[in-house]
Amino acid sequence: MLSVLRSIVQEVNSARDLQEALDIIVSRVQSAMTTEVCSVYLLDPETNRYILMATEGLYKKAVGNVSLGHSEGLIGLVGSREEPINLEDAPSHPRYRYFPETGEERFRSFLGVPIIHHRRVLGVLVVQQRENSRCFDEGEEAFLVTVSAQLAGVIAHSEATGAISGLSMTGEETRDVSFKGVAGAPGVAIGQCVVIYPPADLDAVPEKQTDNIDHELQVFGDAVTAVREDIERVAERLASQLRPEEQALFEVYLRMLDDNALPGEVVTRVKEGLWAQGALKQVVNQYVRHFELMGDLYLRERAVDIRDLGRRLLAHLQEGDQQEVVYPDNTVLVSEELTPAMLGEVPRGQLVGLVSVRGSGNSHVAILARAMGVPTVMGMVDIPVNQLDGKELIVDGFEGQLFASPTADLRTFYQEIYDEEAALFRGLEALRDKPCETTDGHRVSLLVNTGLMTDVVRSLSHGAEGIGLYRTEVPFMIKERFPSEQEQRQYYREQLEAFAPSPVTMRTLDIGGDKALSYFPIQEENPFLGWRGIRVTLDHPEIFLVQVRAMLKASEGLNNLQIMLPMISNISEVEESLHLIYRVYHEVREEGYDIHMPKVGVMVEIPAAVYQVRELAERVDFLSVGSNDLTQYLLAVDRNNPRVAQLYHSYHPAVLQALVRIAHDAHSVGKPVSICGELAGDPGGAVLLMAMGYDALSMNAASLPKVKSVIRSIALDWAGQLLEDVLLLDSPHVIKSCVDLALRNAGFGRYLRPGKASADLLSQNS
Ligand code: PEP
Ligand code: MG
Repeated sequence: MLSVLRSIVQEVNSARDLQEALDIIVSRVQSAMTTEVCSVYLLDPETNRYILMATEGLYKKAVGNVSLGHSEGLIGLVGSREEPINLEDAPSHPRYRYFPETGEERFRSFLGVPIIHHRRVLGVLVVQQRENSRCFDEGEEAFLVTVSAQLAGVIAHSEATGAISGLSMTGEETRDVSFKGVAGAPGVAIGQCVVIYPPADLDAVPEKQTDNIDHELQVFGDAVTAVREDIERVAERLASQLRPEEQALFEVYLRMLDDNALPGEVVTRVKEGLWAQGALKQVVNQYVRHFELMGDLYLRERAVDIRDLGRRLLAHLQEGDQQEVVYPDNTVLVSEELTPAMLGEVPRGQLVGLVSVRGSGNSHVAILARAMGVPTVMGMVDIPVNQLDGKELIVDGFEGQLFASPTADLRTFYQEIYDEEAALFRGLEALRDKPCETTDGHRVSLLVNTGLMTDVVRSLSHGAEGIGLYRTEVPFMIKERFPSEQEQRQYYREQLEAFAPSPVTMRTLDIGGDKALSYFPIQEENPFLGWRGIRVTLDHPEIFLVQVRAMLKASEGLNNLQIMLPMISNISEVEESLHLIYRVYHEVREEGYDIHMPKVGVMVEIPAAVYQVRELAERVDFLSVGSNDLTQYLLAVDRNNPRVAQLYHSYHPAVLQALVRIAHDAHSVGKPVSICGELAGDPGGAVLLMAMGYDALSMNAASLPKVKSVIRSIALDWAGQLLEDVLLLDSPHVIKSCVDLALRNAGFGRYLRPGKASADLLSQNS
């Protein structure tokens, strides 16, 4: 059964559109289960009705014409109960509905399973049988449930692909097509999409037309020649080491590259106007599908060779066709997985929005986007990336939504929000040089988190009082090798100088998790529980020592450096790090540099550290809470995984209790404590943290003016009362609503989500 299942999924995966995918499903399931009928009903979100979209066994003319209300008939029952219904005599069931146009009266046995994707019922998959005697057994039920679970994602994706081309499920024209993801960085952007796709990945190649057929034929011809030469070279090199039957494989490859084989078909499609990469993708997929359906195992395996050949050709094509990406003035960058390097490629001032298929709201690239003030949506798992290039998009980074094919009304609506947000910021500029102090005189330091030099410029203009977290891995991530001591010294000096004499807290390299260095790959099953942060650098003292040396030398004459250690889970990591820092300090002084010993601090971001705050604090000068990781580890929710994004909640009572405890325990041994996770930049979060006693809040530059404005307008007592109230609550959602309500009542509703009132109106009216 597993192989049948796999081949159905593969075939459906390579379908061109939703209809083809559904037709494949019904015909393959019908024959695999030897039933008389297999049909798919999809729930049309526009009409909230189940529409018969494909069938094998019912009258074909019923497709698209038969539909049932949301809770009508057995189909509606399967959908609303969200579980399989297996009946030997369906017509005797009280919910049975009869549609003469389907010819259904002839079928008695009924097995329907819901098609569910991310908790949303997309439709129902049904098999039926004429005789009374057939009752679908447990195994068949389990098979159908498995097929449905595996195909739900593909169906959702195909639906989205249709929608992006401006077509609804039933083929009608649609506008304002929207996709839901996870909010990454607040703000809205209206712009033109530029898709950045990874090299030599056939699946990621967009389908584009070309108006330069000769050029496409030329680059494709060159790619075929280059791959042929590669294969001949490899075959020759390995000739003496391989047996004849193994050498025959190269022959197979070369035969596939004959002009009248695969290349011939690509050329035909290019002549019809498709660009070479897209034509190659189509032809390779067609071959792969063909081979995978073969009964013979040896021939089935050849699908792998075709795919490999396709990748090789694509690599050469992309090399020979390296057209400069043209970034429009209002670029919305879209990619399977955004990286800091991709952000860096877009010329300054032209990047207005970001969309990533992978990652979640607390992925590092989202944090970087927040720091840069670029509205971002993450975790857009169902968007058809390949279809988006060049399209007009609206990014709603507040709600985590993306719109394609916007109507003039929607564009005007978002333009108003954009203008409102810009006006809000202009209004806050006046606060730049004012202290962050409550109405009853309580002072809190507002610091910034930085990674790039642009952050520093923005931070200064927003009135930051120092850097609470400089993520040193960012300059490491945008290079192609480890930066040298001299290069690092230069980066660090820029940050230290920009803020001197205010403190600049530099965190030692925190790679691992979702922060990968292309030149130092870490492959792990469970990267967030693996080799991360201080664990890597203590295992590689040569990296740690060079970094600390660069920091110390950069601080000469400024003396505003503080060093912070990430991912500390036990005391000995602190002691070992301190030992190395002291060693470098003495060596650098011996070299003649006039430097001071910097303050050293520890990040509290692992639950174990929460319970050892006193022991940690006694060994260092300060603590800083990394609430992004602390939330992830306390709640066991991967911060990078959009599937569990709704469980990642920094207002969770357990997180708040931990934060209270950390502040209390640090102060009990006389050490200052700050926080540099994203919660500090959330106006409501900042109020609670101030009430807990945090001495400094470090956040992205874009959040700073809003936080300052709120704190300057409230009294510490007011914040204390709010904290007391929410600590009695047991649900993160209720806590969040309670804090939002308090802010709204205090007149800060506009900081929660500009245009929210009008957004509510729009959704009510639509
Ligand atoms: C944190 O974990 O809260 C933090 C500030 O560090 P990072 O987000 O870089 O892991
Ligand atoms: Mg962290």
